[in-house]
Amino acid sequence: MTTTTAPESQPFQAEVAELLNLMVHSVYSETEIFLRELISNASDACDKLRYEAISAPELIADGAPPKIRIAPDKKANTLSVVDSGIGMDRHELIDNLGTIARSGTKSFLSRLTEAKDGANLIGQFGVGFYAAFMVAERIVVTSRRAGSDQVFVWSSSGGSGFEIAQASDEDATRVIRGTEIVLHLKKEASKYLETYEIERVVRAWSDNIQFPIELVPEEG
Ligand code: ADP
Ligand code: MG
Repeated sequence: MTTTTAPESQPFQAEVAELLNLMVHSVYSETEIFLRELISNASDACDKLRYEAISAPELIADGAPPKIRIAPDKKANTLSVVDSGIGMDRHELIDNLGTIARSGTKSFLSRLTEAKDGANLIGQFGVGFYAAFMVAERIVVTSRRAGSDQVFVWSSSGGSGFEIAQASDEDATRVIRGTEIVLHLKKEASKYLETYEIERVVRAWSDNIQFPIELVPEEG
């Protein structure tokens, strides 16, 4: 059964809003670590799927092995990081991408209020998913929890909140399982659409990832 829900706006937890504000105005120069963070999350998601599939093999019955894809699109000025891992349902999207549970990020924020030079702390701590707002002006996350017939879309321009909605049929068909993260890149981040740049960053930071990382060539 499919129930359609209207798109809903929700505020970020105060700490998230604070962190995003920092990301958006970051003068931190090593913005490339955003890709390490997204790939690391994608890899965690593939791990979780593999683990859950031990007791629920039907979750991977479609036969598609967990993998990670990176797809640049110069025309649209977007970079997508896609995984066929565990995915997130509506509740998980709201919880995981709207609040900060990590103790590391919390101590990062308290250190930040003391530090004059916040930018350097970004590199030291690693700020997870939110690092993507260093390079993206808008992020759209489309996700299907493994085994679910529902797909949800989380989107934010990094202000005070995000939107959550049910995916259109077209989007739902695209995401068979797992998560698609589309970064609408800032002008100054368009270098991350170049194949050689993506390859360099992946080699530099994501060499230890156990799942295949595929760089999807641009069409045309
Ligand atoms: P961390 O990875 O340290 O938990 P992040 O900010 O990187 O912190 O991610 C927050 C949470 O969002 C993750 O713990 C996970 O639950 C969820 N998440 C992020 N990306 C994905 C993804 N690609 N697939 C599934 N869950 C994800
Ligand atoms: Mg992470």
